[in-house]
Amino acid sequence: MKVVKFGGSSLASGESVSNAINILTSEKERQVMVVSAPGKRFSKDIKVTDLLIQYAEDFLHQNPTNDIVSKIFNRYQEIGNYFGIESAQLEIIHDILLNLPKQNYPNNDYLLAAFKAHGERLNARLIALILNHMGIKSRYLDPIEAGLIVTGEPNDALVNPESYINLDHLKIFDDEKIVFPGFFGITPSGHIATFSRGGSDITGAILARGMHCDLYENFTDVSGIFSVNPAIIPSPKSIKKMTYREMRELSYAGFSVFHDEALIPAIQGDIPINVKNTNAPADPGTMILPNRNFSADRIITGVASQKNFSALYLHKYLLNKEAGFTLKILQILDKYHVPYEHMPSGIDDITIIFNRKFLTDQLIDLICNEIQALINPDQLEWIDDYAIIMVVGEGMKKHSGISATILSALQAQNITPQMINQGASQISIMIGTKNEEVKLAVKTIYQEFF
Ligand code: ASP
Repeated sequence: MKVVKFGGSSLASGESVSNAINILTSEKERQVMVVSAPGKRFSKDIKVTDLLIQYAEDFLHQNPTNDIVSKIFNRYQEIGNYFGIESAQLEIIHDILLNLPKQNYPNNDYLLAAFKAHGERLNARLIALILNHMGIKSRYLDPIEAGLIVTGEPNDALVNPESYINLDHLKIFDDEKIVFPGFFGITPSGHIATFSRGGSDITGAILARGMHCDLYENFTDVSGIFSVNPAIIPSPKSIKKMTYREMRELSYAGFSVFHDEALIPAIQGDIPINVKNTNAPADPGTMILPNRNFSADRIITGVASQKNFSALYLHKYLLNKEAGFTLKILQILDKYHVPYEHMPSGIDDITIIFNRKFLTDQLIDLICNEIQALINPDQLEWIDDYAIIMVVGEGMKKHSGISATILSALQAQNITPQMINQGASQISIMIGTKNEEVKLAVKTIYQEFF
């Protein structure tokens, strides 16, 4: 059995839903369909999820909501009409939308989560309706009925392991298709909570693991995962196959085609993932596979980059002889609940790299002041315009001198990296550069290896 997940851009109009249905029905093993909310039909269009956020905000600010409800309903109506669904059946969707503000929510965060989740919830209901209307036996399965339990933040939830036991007990008949809404689950007290944005990928992976599927197919609007950001290198090579950990490292540094949290259930269940294109389903796409028995075709699989990091550089002679130095820094970070990304160190210096989204200017000052007072380094420098480049490849394990090749290529372009660090996994090299140098650096590295 396979789980097939379709992203919002693959379900944005009647025509694209029809494409998705063709893909679903072209193989008997494609039994479980996970859907996103309708996405953008054209570049200036607004995703249904964003319209629902607007609806929640209008309601909370006591603004009129008629227009926004009509806009949302029109999106489903357009898809329903394409397939000739009767208006009385579509009216149910309208009623559910109108009733959203009347439900009970523990607080406004839960309210927002429930509004957002209805993008996928209504789409899955509609698609099950369409399939049955076409004579394809299908069943809408709600996360409540399936027991997809989540905990944590209402808008950034995590799957609860109990879900896998519940999913294992589900009975799916050979002759039916299941349509399951992505993006949300139910808290132990029975309220809706969503994963982070783009989280339908996570639902697909949870179902694939829970239902012991052979393959998780993730349909999107590109033919697989590119080896570098196409905004930096036009028409780059796409990746045919890679390992879970290569994908982890690349998605961490900005490869956004597949949600990085969605890898975890797939890894735990040992389920291969195939990222494919809805508009070119015959293209092989990208296979993401377990690490064991993997043989790399090339040295480097991909080069990813992400801006908006910051780094704290500390220099102190004899740092290596001073016990508890790093512990003191970590205690300060812990006190202010600030996570760090990496901490490469040398004999007399250490760089701590932060994701800027977790920091405010005030926090930076507090942290720097305390470190200065407690540790008294010879040099303390805050570098704010920091970018990270990840060069990733299982093939690197068998080749030496990769860092030297990268450094000399960069040097030829007058780029001096702020930091270079070979990951303990031996399959990645991380390079820190200034924001304004990152594009040229990525281009240079890509051209060197591809
Ligand atoms: N509809 C949600 C979002 O836009 C989740 C998803 O599409 O995966 O973030």
